[in-house]
Amino acid sequence: MLFGIRSRLIASHLLVAIVAALAASIYLSLSFERLQVEYHEHALLSSAYALADALETDFGTPHGSLQARNAIAKLASEKPGHFAVLDAAGRVVSSTDALIRPGGRLAGTDQALTGRQQVTVTRGKGDDAEHTVVSVPIEHEGRVVGAVRAWVLEKDYRASLAPIKRVTALALAGVAALSIAISLVLSQALTTPIRRMRQLSRRIAGGDFTTRTQESGADELGELAADLNVMASRLQDLENIRRDFVGNVSHELRSPVSNIRVTSEVLERRAERLGDGSAKLFQTIVHETERLESMINELMELSEIESGALTLDMRSFRLKPMLDELIESISPRADQKGITVGLLADPSIAVEADRARLARAVLNLLDNAVKFTSGGGQVVLSARHIDGEIAIEVTDTGDGINSADLPRIFERFYRADKARHRKGGAGIGLSIVKHITEAHGGTVEAYSEEGRGSTFRIRLPVG
Ligand code: ADP
Repeated sequence: MLFGIRSRLIASHLLVAIVAALAASIYLSLSFERLQVEYHEHALLSSAYALADALETDFGTPHGSLQARNAIAKLASEKPGHFAVLDAAGRVVSSTDALIRPGGRLAGTDQALTGRQQVTVTRGKGDDAEHTVVSVPIEHEGRVVGAVRAWVLEKDYRASLAPIKRVTALALAGVAALSIAISLVLSQALTTPIRRMRQLSRRIAGGDFTTRTQESGADELGELAADLNVMASRLQDLENIRRDFVGNVSHELRSPVSNIRVTSEVLERRAERLGDGSAKLFQTIVHETERLESMINELMELSEIESGALTLDMRSFRLKPMLDELIESISPRADQKGITVGLLADPSIAVEADRARLARAVLNLLDNAVKFTSGGGQVVLSARHIDGEIAIEVTDTGDGINSADLPRIFERFYRADKARHRKGGAGIGLSIVKHITEAHGGTVEAYSEEGRGSTFRIRLPVG
């Protein structure tokens, strides 16, 4: 994830480490530069004083000039920096730099020629610019007889800074690499539990309250994990209460409703004999009671399946005869509505399943297909092999389901179009299909276009 916690952590660690390393390296370079300036200054001054001391006695005499040239030649080979010896008038007597001609004048020496030590530091003016210039007087018997000028060039000075710059750059790269490594490890430690808890919360959102996270620890993440586990247990308790309640209520309702139906049937027959016109009313009561009974049965079936009491009697059998029976049982209702029902199935397809439960699931799909298709429409049941699985499909040319409802239709008690709910039941049929299919290790999918029809596909593993 581009802007996930992990990338943000790495970026912030990297930023802090680089800013800190940059600040440290800038501070170090400045300190080192200052030390270098002081070092050059001291080195130049001590060499210049040594030269001035060596030259003071015979300075101004021919021997002194020779002595100055020899000393300069020696310095040029031994000491870093450049040197020049000037006479009392400020003219060059000799210099380590071949480009400086004897007799010429050099800047930065006026104070030395009046007997004072002089230091000038300049910076960043090009390779041949002078960086540090020192001048000291040559004094003999209290008189200034000349001056020694010593200097270091910008390029020599920069060369001495190059190693520290290399080391600093290397250290910066090292700090960046190290901070990436550390933040990778730290962020891994932080995001792994978050990712696991996210998986748990997704499962809870999907209705699975049995999973728990193993994350522990005394920090905030550990507390969050513990809270999530508590929440999952509470939801699981509520779910058990709800399931038991639905199971118990539907169980309790079954006998009185069945008694009402039987009594109403008796009354309907009697009314028919009496011919007083009330038979129609009793017929309606019988019809509505039958609907109520079928809903109660579905509710009981659902709570039995959800309580984990669903045991499958798995056997291998050919699919086509079972599908033929289902078509036969649905045909009267389809004929009554003027719907054509068809079957496309290879007789050789065999499946390993609980025959009664699978028949129940497919019948629910057929039942819905007939229920939500108007006269003149078509319902086709088919079975075939797809991608190494067995697919049982129910396709209709009915009302269809809109795309907002489609992802939720397998939820219990969910009815897609509330305005059409008189057609449907309590929204239980498809959740029973889903439970039965999943208990067989299969899946169920729905494809639909509102106004054009729907296809429901049960996929089962090949037995
Ligand atoms: P019900 O008992 O209401 O039919 P189901 O769980 O079987 O409950 O179906 C849930 C909802 O899905 C139905 O209320 C209906 O809106 C929609 N539905 C199911 N099958 C079809 C279908 N073949 N065509 C259109 N809508 C369907």
